[in-house]
Amino acid sequence: MAIREAMLYACEDEKVRCDVCAHHCLIPEGGFGLCRTRQNVEGKLYTLIYAEASSVNADPIEKKPLYHFYPGSYAFSLGTISCNFHCKHCQNWAISAAQVGDIPTVEITPEESIRRAKQNRCDGIAWTYNEPTIWFEYTYDSARLAKREGLYTVYVTNGYISESALNEIAPFLDAASVDVKAFSDSFYKRVCGARLEPVLATCERMLEKRIHIELVYLIIPEYNDSTEELKRFADWVVELNATIPVHFSRFYPAYKMLDVPPTSIECLERAYEIAKEAGVEYVYLGNVPGHTYENTYCPECGELLIQRMNYRVKSRIRSRECPACGRAINIIL
Ligand code: SF4
Repeated sequence: MAIREAMLYACEDEKVRCDVCAHHCLIPEGGFGLCRTRQNVEGKLYTLIYAEASSVNADPIEKKPLYHFYPGSYAFSLGTISCNFHCKHCQNWAISAAQVGDIPTVEITPEESIRRAKQNRCDGIAWTYNEPTIWFEYTYDSARLAKREGLYTVYVTNGYISESALNEIAPFLDAASVDVKAFSDSFYKRVCGARLEPVLATCERMLEKRIHIELVYLIIPEYNDSTEELKRFADWVVELNATIPVHFSRFYPAYKMLDVPPTSIECLERAYEIAKEAGVEYVYLGNVPGHTYENTYCPECGELLIQRMNYRVKSRIRSRECPACGRAINIIL
């Protein structure tokens, strides 16, 4: 177990206040934060998971999903254990619900992760599979190193990072795939043990800091799929920036939501139409291999710009303009 003194905390009498995510846990002597990976030991806060990886793979960037960020490239992807959310529908619950010591991990130092990224011919590094924010110290050290070594850096996140933590890592973070799990605070409280507002604030801050973002909304039947809620989400995206790619993803029964059926294709297509009508320019359906809405089309003339099949790029544009009508496309190549 790799233990390090944590970043971003303050002492309050005999307790410590963690400022890494929006929970801002106040942790008594000997106690842990909500993520169960940070412990107060004699007035100092320690992370217990520095460099402890539970999952490691070279993944297509499309799997994150990021469709407008170096399409066709590979990201060396690492995840650790636990989470600062407790989502009842978590698709990665085997690692996110695990506590320190529950499942095997391997130590991969930041230097080793860079070396393995290059060895696997990856163009970047992604911290994914579970919430990277709770791994903050490790991702921060790795991101600094990765940028020096010419690799891109990606967070796949629930967006609950605090403003201070984002300020620290932003200069070394190129892109983020952010989950907006629903567009209601009651869903966040009931299903995830969190709040909606900090997630929206993170998206706004990331845009201000010029971090490329794409949004993922997993549609769960009867939980977050009403036309009204989807419309409010889409309107918020348009107000933020209509060119942000939005991925509506298909839910499959998992963890504590085994009694909920998978999302129907009709429902996903309804979400697609709602978002397009609201003015979102790039809308995708996820977890539906072979669907035509895996592809990127020009928002102006409808030209096919990137063709995908099950997270693989089949063909793509070579410049940031539509070859048919010249429209500027929000994409990093
Ligand atoms: S990272 Fe978040 S959940 Fe974990 S201790 Fe810090 S504030 Fe609490």
